[in-house]
Amino acid sequence: MKPESSAAAGSGITDMQAEVVVLGAGPGGYTAAFRAADLGKRVVLIEKHAALGGVCLNVGCIPSKALLHAAHMIDGAAELESMGIGFGKPKIDLDKLRQGKERVVARLTQGLAALAKQRKVEVVRGVARFESPNRIAVETARGAVTIGFDNAIIACGSRPVEIPGFPHGDPRLIDSTGALALEEVPRRMLVIGGGIIGLEMGTVYASLGSRIDLVELQPGLIPGCDPDLVRPLQKRLKGRFETLMTDTRVTEVKVQKGGLKVFFEGKNAPEKPQTYDKVLVAVGRVPNGKRIGAEQAGVDVDERGFIAVDRHMRTNVPNIYAIGDVVGNPMLAHKATHEAKVAAEVIAGRPSQFDPLTIPSVAYTDPEVAWMGVTEGEAKARGIAYEKGLFPWAASGRALGIGRDEGLTKLLFDPESKRIIGAGIVGVNAGELIGEAVLAMEMGAEMEDIGLTVHPHPTLNETLCLAAEMAHGSITDLMPPRRR
Ligand code: NAD
Repeated sequence: MKPESSAAAGSGITDMQAEVVVLGAGPGGYTAAFRAADLGKRVVLIEKHAALGGVCLNVGCIPSKALLHAAHMIDGAAELESMGIGFGKPKIDLDKLRQGKERVVARLTQGLAALAKQRKVEVVRGVARFESPNRIAVETARGAVTIGFDNAIIACGSRPVEIPGFPHGDPRLIDSTGALALEEVPRRMLVIGGGIIGLEMGTVYASLGSRIDLVELQPGLIPGCDPDLVRPLQKRLKGRFETLMTDTRVTEVKVQKGGLKVFFEGKNAPEKPQTYDKVLVAVGRVPNGKRIGAEQAGVDVDERGFIAVDRHMRTNVPNIYAIGDVVGNPMLAHKATHEAKVAAEVIAGRPSQFDPLTIPSVAYTDPEVAWMGVTEGEAKARGIAYEKGLFPWAASGRALGIGRDEGLTKLLFDPESKRIIGAGIVGVNAGELIGEAVLAMEMGAEMEDIGLTVHPHPTLNETLCLAAEMAHGSITDLMPPRRR
């Protein structure tokens, strides 16, 4: 795209014109930009960081999975001792581990840069703020750039919640980005928040040798997920983490020379304050909606920073769309990418809308926990009738073979139509297994469809078939449950 205003060039200001401007190059933003370009639009993608990919690729999903893989291998090797195979204490070269993680990220981000180039998507690096419903200004390293646009897609994401009163700025108080930087393996680390990030990063550092304490405000870990699915994880973490303090909160963090002194309050609070080398705060994320000058474009942003959209991902301003974390929970990359395609297609004149029956959630812990559709807790709270099929992995030959029989596969069905309405899995690779349930729900599969689908044996995925048989009463691997 050529600068349109040469008058501004001398002053370092360059005007550009695009059919579609995308603000933010995370999984939502780059997907929207690429899809719009593939549909024939002239696209400018604005990103403040050097690499494309946003939090997910650079400081989120991808690097955390690389580190979790290392953690699982360390733990798996230790567990083989019970089968007579010993590797001894692992020697951990933190620099190499960090470099390995960075190589994974670099490969993906470089791939994205190449894909942007191939599609002729122009990437502008800098911080963007709207100036009007058709103009956005970007503060780049080489000065301000003003871009005129026909349509814009806001994909500005979210950032970690900061707890007021905590000593922000102290390098020992970190968020998920700090945890992924892997600067050191702290001797003692406190994780604040028993949600997905807290549990995943706590798992990594525990396997690397840190003593982990975890504090969670709610009575259980991963609030929102069914307790029967969380229980096997909690049990395993009790052996890995030093303490799991549910129903407890941190009241104060005091900076001291020898560590961060933390004061607790609640049901499982320790008697005395504790001192840690590092404290990881993982208590959720807040949307970035208030940081983009949306008001200049007339886009409504609520007081928390979310931007409301319709099923076409359109904001209250007809030519401005929004996708990803900034439009609401769940803040997940796979939601953002699907929303992104809808926004790009609608701009290109296609009749797309975002209306999935469900968006699956996965905690990549050990064991993994994955769920989709309605949870059992939600069904009870909302008075939704359901029939349940529960298959314990203790009856799965494959789970026993890998020494991990603590898993559970649970399917929920509508009692009238017998269609699947929910699923939850805890166990090794639950995140891989949940995809089948999502497809079953989107396709309107019934209990018998899943039970009659020939699954390969012996696998963990056959536990879905067996859970459907449990609900149906046709199971033979276990005694069928008594009909109600
Ligand atoms: P979260 O909402 O998943 O969990 C935060 C936890 O912190 C909750 O359990 C909450 O009860 C607890 N909490 C809140 N305030 C607290 C306090 N003062 N003291 C103690 N506990 C407190 O948030 P997260 O783990 O920070 O993750 C942020 C977002 O990123 C989520 O939307 C999550 O879905 C997403 N994410 C997803 C994945 C994945 O899909 N695997 C991985 C990482 C992050």
